[in-house]
Amino acid sequence: MKKTKIEWCDSTWNPVTGCLHGCNYCYARTIANRFKGCDVPSTYWQYHQAIWKRVNPESSSDKAMFEVDAGSPPVNVRFDPKAQKYVITTAPYPWGFQPTLRRDKLSEPAEIKKPRTIFVCSMADLFGSWVPDSWLSEVFAACEKSPQHRYMFLTKNPQRYTGYGVPAAGNMWYGTSITKTADIGRVNKLPALCHTFLSIEPLLDDLGADSRNFLPERVDWVIIGAETGNRSDKVIPEKKWITDIVCCCRNIKIPVFMKDSLLPIVGGENMLREFPWEIKKGSETNEYIQRAQP
Ligand code: SF4
Repeated sequence: MKKTKIEWCDSTWNPVTGCLHGCNYCYARTIANRFKGCDVPSTYWQYHQAIWKRVNPESSSDKAMFEVDAGSPPVNVRFDPKAQKYVITTAPYPWGFQPTLRRDKLSEPAEIKKPRTIFVCSMADLFGSWVPDSWLSEVFAACEKSPQHRYMFLTKNPQRYTGYGVPAAGNMWYGTSITKTADIGRVNKLPALCHTFLSIEPLLDDLGADSRNFLPERVDWVIIGAETGNRSDKVIPEKKWITDIVCCCRNIKIPVFMKDSLLPIVGGENMLREFPWEIKKGSETNEYIQRAQP
């Protein structure tokens, strides 16, 4: 489990990697493809086929999904041009960005005793429609074995939360991503009786001055961020798009977390770093502790 630069959590944990949504701004796909296993000669390919199971051989290769068993070495084979030979290396993403269950990662939360806020599957959409229920069950079983941590789930397919029947435990938080007005309907698909949050990142559109239309009071937290990277048609949000969302959150007392990417747009004095589980002692108005700003 990795410490992370993602400012709103302590660690990322990726027992499932890969995603079939195809968002054009996806940073995870770039990373996974950069560190995928490659240059595999046929003998090694057969070896990996044998120990790392492809779960849907009937589907086309662009929808291929895999499972890595806990005892299988997460290695792959690369051609080293300097040594002019194949070498065994670790392959963080053996199948690139194809959905893969990494059973070798399932024990990681249990190895860390000190409580952490963990973003589960920052390199996947764990609740994508293609993900088998059995994968979800294995991930939740691993979470339940280590209740000292807070688990943050995030999806573009929030109806799966209810479809699967996610546990309403106090340390499980269920989020959905909104990037533009067309995504707003996802908010109402968040599961009832659970902690919920919105990740408005990357903000690609003016969600409208009356954000109250899509921000029901039962949402417990809103995270806002701008697109990063150097995509040619990268969208830089206007300050007003952000302040409209913040005003709405203020009106209905939803804590707000602004990612570092908003700093050049809103200015340091306007940055908000509120965590819903860190309410100021003695506060009667849901004032939240602000963590250090960037
Ligand atoms: S849902 Fe997330 S992981 Fe999947 S393609 Fe979009 S940005 Fe990438």
